[in-house]
Amino acid sequence: MPNPNIRLSLPSKGRLQDDSIELLAECGLPIQKLNPRQYQAKMPALPELTVLFQRPSDIVISVRQGSVDFGITGIDVLEENRGDNGDIIVLHDALGFGSCSLMLAVPESWSDVTNIESLKSYAATLDQPLRVATKFPVLTERFLKQQNIPHTLIAAEGTLETAPTIGYADIISDLVSSGQTLQDNRLRALRDGVVQASQAALIANRKSLETNPSALETARRLLEYIEAHMRAKENLLVIANMRGESPEAIASKLFNETSVGGLQGPTISPIITRESNQGWHSVTVVVRRDNLPRAIGELRQVGGSGIIVSPVTYIFEEEPPRYTAMLAALKG
Ligand code: AMP
Repeated sequence: MPNPNIRLSLPSKGRLQDDSIELLAECGLPIQKLNPRQYQAKMPALPELTVLFQRPSDIVISVRQGSVDFGITGIDVLEENRGDNGDIIVLHDALGFGSCSLMLAVPESWSDVTNIESLKSYAATLDQPLRVATKFPVLTERFLKQQNIPHTLIAAEGTLETAPTIGYADIISDLVSSGQTLQDNRLRALRDGVVQASQAALIANRKSLETNPSALETARRLLEYIEAHMRAKENLLVIANMRGESPEAIASKLFNETSVGGLQGPTISPIITRESNQGWHSVTVVVRRDNLPRAIGELRQVGGSGIIVSPVTYIFEEEPPRYTAMLAALKG
């Protein structure tokens, strides 16, 4: 009998927690946490869901083992801990926050070492294999092997950045976000030293999706809201007044412009004026946020006036593309 109680784990502290909660709230899936120290919460929009809070790497392990159905965590800890038996399905790999990269960084004083090739040459001059300190042994090992760099991994907890100065490692493989920590510790990331690019992702237990219809339905709803919101966030709704003989005549002018074609095409409706018909129409188009100045220019160019711009909350497609991809992954 499938468990009707579905579990979603979120990061238990820091930016990753705040940003997960904020994204879900923006998606219309706010979390109700009865008290800030509680490690459980509810999501009123999906009452079957219990929200848990765990460390990002524990989220991966819980989802892999199936004690938790869904999780939001970083791709860095996902790839480090996911194992190779396909127990985890990635439902969304770009939630738009928690961006960082696991990178190889060398002491600034190694002025000739700027990329992997020069690291290789330098490592060959050392009288022992390169000592690399990291909290990501699986990913770092895989990367160094692929690059054919003889090395010893030094497993480290806490602050890695001091390892080369203290002298227990030559270089580090660590998460870099702004790069400030490296700079403060007189370290420099290698140009092509990205071991793993990362941001927050939504993951699920494969078996749970395969065997529990309510987990599958929860996946659909989560993806539906997240995708509709993220698509909407990139866009703005633009409404303009425009004169023309007919909606078709106005549309043909708009089709000559590149930014105001809308999702399918513009919506054009006649405006009923008090005086005799003056050919006024209202034109509604969705435009990409980064294209707004251009879209306004184009609308003016074809006679647009009284332009109103407003944010879009959701854009729902017939079926969220990532849900379709998930169904394909379940079959594969
Ligand atoms: P930054 O100085 O902004 O480059 O941040 C680097 C420091 O923050 C290092 O100590 C990293 O271990 C840590 N860090 C950066 N991004 C993340 C992340 N997404 N998750 C966990 N730790 C991070």
